[in-house]
Amino acid sequence: MTDYKHILVAVDFSPAADIVAKAALDVVRRYGASLSLIHVVDYLPPLGFGDDFTPSPTLLIDEHELLEQGRVSLKKFATKLGLETTRQQILAGMPKQEILHAAEEQDIDLIVIGSHGRHGLNRLLGSTARSILNDAPCDVLAVRIKE
Ligand code: AMP
Repeated sequence: MTDYKHILVAVDFSPAADIVAKAALDVVRRYGASLSLIHVVDYLPPLGFGDDFTPSPTLLIDEHELLEQGRVSLKKFATKLGLETTRQQILAGMPKQEILHAAEEQDIDLIVIGSHGRHGLNRLLGSTARSILNDAPCDVLAVRIKE
């Protein structure tokens, strides 16, 4: 098994997020690795906003507020788990893309995700977990979330 140095845990604030983060912490302790937390705000502006159309300031402020709320929530989440000093990233976009991009940019050698998150338990793997397992540039730990 690889000697993991930098682990990225994807936090979606679903009820399973604590289980996922605790599994990541176990691996962090075992390997003496560093840990980063990431949450992606998957807000998309309404359709119809092309290059020829400038979004209204209200919508821009909303997006800014969503990012700010995400920042506050991730800080609370980290504090709850005793991870105040851990690197915390809030990005906007599609979770799978942003998580994969962050992993590539930051030399991550293990991504920790839940097998399922907010998108339900009706499949063997959630859509984010499946995409990350397919395309990750590094190892992935998909923590099994039971019904
Ligand atoms: P899902 O595909 O929604 O069932 O989620 C599976 C896992 O992907 C979750 O347990 C999280 O680890 C991760 N994930 C999903 N959405 C996000 C998000 N918006 N930000 C960070 N991680 C996420």
